[in-house]
Amino acid sequence: MLDTGLYWRPLGGNNIDQISGHCYQYTCVERRENQTIKTSLLIDVGKFDNYQALGVDNAVAAVPDITALLKDKDNGLKAIFLTHSHPDHLNGLVHYLRAGYKLPSLYGGRYTQIVLEDLYDFYKIPQKQRPRFIVIKDGDVKRFGRLRVEVLSASHTCFDAYGFLLSFNKVTVYHSGDMKLDNSTFFKKPTNVKRLKQVAKKINYVVGDFCEIDHEGIAYRESDVYKKFINLIRRFRKKKIYMTVYPTHVEMYIVAFLAALKLGFNVAFHGDEDFYDYMKVLHKYGISFENLAKNRIKVFEKIPDDLSLLGNKFAIIGTYRKLDDKYWINSKDVLMFVTARLRYAALKKQAENRGIKTVSVVDEPLLRGSGHAFMGDWQILKQIMNKAVYIPTHCPDFVLEEFYEVGQLAGFNLINPLPHNNMLYKFGKDEYKLVEKKSAVWLVSQKDGNMVKTLQCPTAGHGSIRNTYSKRRTLQKFKIIEYKMEKKRGV
Ligand SMILES: [Zn+2]
Repeated sequence: MLDTGLYWRPLGGNNIDQISGHCYQYTCVERRENQTIKTSLLIDVGKFDNYQALGVDNAVAAVPDITALLKDKDNGLKAIFLTHSHPDHLNGLVHYLRAGYKLPSLYGGRYTQIVLEDLYDFYKIPQKQRPRFIVIKDGDVKRFGRLRVEVLSASHTCFDAYGFLLSFNKVTVYHSGDMKLDNSTFFKKPTNVKRLKQVAKKINYVVGDFCEIDHEGIAYRESDVYKKFINLIRRFRKKKIYMTVYPTHVEMYIVAFLAALKLGFNVAFHGDEDFYDYMKVLHKYGISFENLAKNRIKVFEKIPDDLSLLGNKFAIIGTYRKLDDKYWINSKDVLMFVTARLRYAALKKQAENRGIKTVSVVDEPLLRGSGHAFMGDWQILKQIMNKAVYIPTHCPDFVLEEFYEVGQLAGFNLINPLPHNNMLYKFGKDEYKLVEKKSAVWLVSQKDGNMVKTLQCPTAGHGSIRNTYSKRRTLQKFKIIEYKMEKKRGV
């Protein structure tokens, strides 16, 4: 039996060796007229990408186990808040609906709602089974008994990304969601640092996105990525620009498009089914490339059969992994941007075999863009919220363990012990404690909608996604950072 207070449990997101399947539980316990009352919220129910490695037949996904909250009314699950639209934060919901569970109301941004509706359609979730969706925006406040939730905008790679301030009695938690500090975002509200500064003194805990904590400096700014594209295009003076983008990172579609527009290149989009799904979502959300172009350039949704329609200066933007022979006629006139090393490796080869100039993200890291805070972002936030206990999430266990020493050198008051999935902490005003440590599980969703419980296990090197993080490279990066820090201090 839990005593009064605020409790936090990662159900997915602090995984053994991969990044995905994010899901966090907050539960408030109160005594009212001799009765114990619990109020619970979930933030995100993502899917775990490497489900094949868990070895369950007919698997289509793996998701965090929220069944205790769904089945047991005493837990008082009131709502699921959604930080943003990416599959590792959102797609788990659909598999619970497929399995016949009833979900509480969802709170998320309008863009998230559009993406989710697409998912419902894809999995044929009947209209009456879809949970209520309440659209939230920056500054909204929602109350569930004595638990207060305030919505804060967050800069990320999709629209309508949010972090939350959760308060219960005298304890306040800032749950960052996927976030960087970049305030140069196109058509999106940046991270609400102003509000964080106002309430900084009250913030006791920061549950933070430490996904890219092994990078020094601050996360790449969208305006800098845009300028980088422009500078490189100008430098190489080519008439045809082939610009690859990453499917879920829609901000890169826009950044690439704006760069082409600025330099007067006509644009044709080209990509796989996923890419056009995201384009559809962008249109539904109200982003129109035609309108942005204002007749200054021609815009084609797909590459026209008659290539001459593209004119003599054009950019092909999309997620294509190879191109038809007909696009390589004047190879000397082509500049190709390779914005993801592995995903576009084959395309790069194809281009190089034809003597085409390629610029890779390996040499120009800005080209990949970024959605997650780097160490520098977190150092700035630490200056603002300097009393808080920092709780790293959104990275594999080994990253957290390796970061611990560097983090302390950098002055972070890090939670101890570090959180792993299914550990339960109690957050007090002045102290916290680890209350429970259970083995972490995934539910593997099968073709027919059935769900099978499996223990979480290391999956790097297995399944279709062999790695989301290189252990060796991460350790090297931390060593370099630590060395520099020690040198600065004259150790
Ligand atoms: Zn994420």
